[in-house]
Amino acid sequence: MSSKQVTLTQVAITTVSINHLGQQVVSELSSEQQAIDEKWMRVAMDQAKLAEAKGEVPVGAVLVKDGELIATGYNLSICEHNPTAHAEIECIQAAGKVLENYRMLGTTLYVTLEPCSMCAGAMVHSRIERVVYGADDLKTGAAGSVVNLLQHEQFNHHVAITKGILADECAAQLSNFFKRRRAEKKALKKQQQLQASQP
Ligand SMILES: [Zn+2]
Repeated sequence: MSSKQVTLTQVAITTVSINHLGQQVVSELSSEQQAIDEKWMRVAMDQAKLAEAKGEVPVGAVLVKDGELIATGYNLSICEHNPTAHAEIECIQAAGKVLENYRMLGTTLYVTLEPCSMCAGAMVHSRIERVVYGADDLKTGAAGSVVNLLQHEQFNHHVAITKGILADECAAQLSNFFKRRRAEKKALKKQQQLQASQP
């Protein structure tokens, strides 16, 4: 093997699902599917921007069925004084009203950040078929980073998982928000100190 050989660092995007025998099946995404997933993830990122405009942590979600947008949602926890107002919950609640059904068979939920345990639970109850997420959440992610509640072997429904769609862009959207917020807090503190020091 030539030492000059270039190693491609791009990792193939896969969907992990559970078959009827309870076995894990890993399938590589076709380039067509990846383009579709990226298109919807950008719509979810636009939802995240709406959250950010309200001072919320920018997380956005969309639910899609048969190539059509069913519902959208973004994080509203602070504005609504509601710890359950995550993007996915907002999206699922809106989708239920559109579909007039509490089961969301054959749907795909796109979300910019790995779902937490609450949202993963709601996805199992909704019977969502597949979740596509952007950035990993190493602290509270319930799609594999901390736990995998979407594919728990003893649950009666398993949600297929596609991770890593626009992962870097989704992660940057979040980290830029936190960076900006830290800078704003620091500037505010400095201003307060300055005012306090003035006679
Ligand atoms: Zn959540």
